[in-house]
Amino acid sequence: MNTEHPATSALSGMDSVEMAALLPLDKPFRAKQIYRWIANGARNFEVMTNLSASLRDELSSRFTVFSTSISQTLTDTDGTVKLQIELSDGSMVETVLLTDEKGRKTACVSCQVGCPMGCAFCQTGHIGYLRNLEAAEIIEQFYHLEDSVGKLDNIVFMGMGEPLLNLRAIRKTIAILTDPEGRGLSKRRITISTSGLCEGIISLADEGPTVRLAVSLTTANSELRKSLMPVTLSNPLPELKKAIAYFSGKTGSRVTLEAAVMAGVNTDELSAQEMASFARDLNVHINIIPWNPVSGLPFTTPTNKEVRAFVHALVRLGLNATVRMRRGKSIQGACGQLGSRPTEERNDI
Ligand code: SAH
Ligand code: SF4
Repeated sequence: MNTEHPATSALSGMDSVEMAALLPLDKPFRAKQIYRWIANGARNFEVMTNLSASLRDELSSRFTVFSTSISQTLTDTDGTVKLQIELSDGSMVETVLLTDEKGRKTACVSCQVGCPMGCAFCQTGHIGYLRNLEAAEIIEQFYHLEDSVGKLDNIVFMGMGEPLLNLRAIRKTIAILTDPEGRGLSKRRITISTSGLCEGIISLADEGPTVRLAVSLTTANSELRKSLMPVTLSNPLPELKKAIAYFSGKTGSRVTLEAAVMAGVNTDELSAQEMASFARDLNVHINIIPWNPVSGLPFTTPTNKEVRAFVHALVRLGLNATVRMRRGKSIQGACGQLGSRPTEERNDI
């Protein structure tokens, strides 16, 4: 398994201090100019017209603005867009644009090629794991989407991979995207979703960045969670609960508990009671995600009636719970469906 980061000289993942140190610039302030150009949509040096022609030529011969390219764009009738993005080493990741009923646009980005966590119900967990993405490779997913559809409102780290296993690159991505001198995205518009790595949650609480946190609880039954999400073996539920309480205590923010629900697996009355006792004294909101089909996996999507009954049971038990609408169905772009083969997807459209 190759977990090394490939070296890239792409500027998209650098801040202006790094650019000033690396680039052969005639004046130090040029670094900030280039940094701003990229945040404002420049994808090559030729368009940076406030740099001299000779500097642009030299930069073009030694560096690139981007390290990735779009290999395929799929669009669903509900407005969801999925980009397949080719990395410089030839591997592929997927990134999804979600548009809500108010027209707000959210980028759902990947942070790893594949995922090592092995959740039983997730397509990405079944394709295995190759490596972490670099900051440039994550930022470019956001910018590729902005180039396709215009300014985005939010970014969620809910694509392929486990963000808390790649915190270094995620911190850098967030620092660059939120920099007021660059793209200037608000931290309140950023959500990291984790399968439940306690150490990473505590590190986020202690060292930031102070973004929103979502935890994929799925079920509060320990034995069932161990079988569905092997992360539970090394991050038991009582520890996870403490980490969530620590995060919301320290940051003052409400955490989202996500639960992918599968017919006859984690939607009965007992499941609701277990979830209620896990969540009762936490500052959380519960987001129910009816399972999105992944071919070859032994689960079934629950009926609307089953989902409604589960949500009602949670609400009756005093929890704040809602259902996430499924988007990107026809392009395999919904939660947990990323990573299916391009050829399979072409058959779908
Ligand atoms: N790795 C991170 C973020 C990516 S997964 C995490 O696990 O949190 C994003 C969400 O999709 C998670 O809440 C996950 O539980 C859910 N999910 C995975 N597979 C799914 C599927 N087939 N149907 C519905 N939700 C799924
Ligand atoms: Fe990885 Fe998240 Fe899928 Fe689990 S649900 S395998 S952590 S991407």
